[in-house]
Amino acid sequence: MTSKILLIYTGGTIGMVKDAQTGSLSAFNFSSLLEHIPELGLLNCEINHVSFETPIDSSNMNPNHWVSIVELIERHYYSCDGFVILHGSDTMSYTASALSFMLENLSKPVVITGSQLPIGDLRTDAKENLITSIQIAALKQNNSAVLKEVGLYFEYKLYRGNRTTKINSEQFEAFDSPNYPPLMTSGVHLSIRHDLLQKHYSQAALKVHKTLDSSIALVKIFPGLQPSVLQSISESGVIKGVVLETFGSGNSFMDSWFIDQIKAMISSGIHVINVTQCIGGFVDMGQYETGKLLQSAGVISGKDCTTEAALTKLMHMLGSQIPHNTFKTVFETSLRGEMS
Ligand code: ASP
Repeated sequence: MTSKILLIYTGGTIGMVKDAQTGSLSAFNFSSLLEHIPELGLLNCEINHVSFETPIDSSNMNPNHWVSIVELIERHYYSCDGFVILHGSDTMSYTASALSFMLENLSKPVVITGSQLPIGDLRTDAKENLITSIQIAALKQNNSAVLKEVGLYFEYKLYRGNRTTKINSEQFEAFDSPNYPPLMTSGVHLSIRHDLLQKHYSQAALKVHKTLDSSIALVKIFPGLQPSVLQSISESGVIKGVVLETFGSGNSFMDSWFIDQIKAMISSGIHVINVTQCIGGFVDMGQYETGKLLQSAGVISGKDCTTEAALTKLMHMLGSQIPHNTFKTVFETSLRGEMS
């Protein structure tokens, strides 16, 4: 049976073509997609496309754009089998993480992809990324989608979107998922790790969360951090949550001003989340004295969440008005497979 796939073009290099004469980049006309990539005709898919009215470099992405994307998915959810979002690579992991929280009970594939080189470039990675993403979005087993979550496909690997981070601005292998293995690997065959995929047994309908509260801050600690940084957050009167990027397994300095300020933030109602600034690994605040102080101050463990997932989960939970007394427990629970 032919699968119906909706391509959503938000912007980014993947949708660009280089003028062979001038070398300048211009937006690709998706209506002529099949002409440019005749290989797509080999897929048993009906491909439709929509585009942001003004495609953006993904550095300009913001939560309102995420709402536009989920509204498109919501509008076409029952008439399509899968969705492929074309996106610039710079903020792709933030978008993939945000969409995972905004789309609850997802039972269809949402694959986000992009490229390092424009689609019209001789050595482009865009074609493979696009073709395999569409193939993955169309995959079915027993009449049911194989992928029932938000995935990020780049350079022969499909990752769980909310586990990814951009690690390289130049190489084709631009993303990694340090704390969760790839869900699929594309070689001669598409190898699928069924054991790692999100399961969706319930019949619950898709629930789209559109309220995100971005009154939050990200603080990466470093030796020499000044008290005024935390002070300005506490005194801003607008910040409701802070993601603290700490050392190693969730450690910070033990200076009393620092711990006192964290305690003051928490008692004033600001949620403080601890994630590691290491590329991989787990926050375990019970391991060292330097982490225990944060734990007893009431800091929430981000466990092995990426910073991108922690920030967007915080926006989602604040937007969903999760009660204060359950906030820590809910945050420390995996909602969409974003933490182990
Ligand atoms: N700056 C571009 C963007 O993120 C890079 C890319 O397309 O990958 O939109």
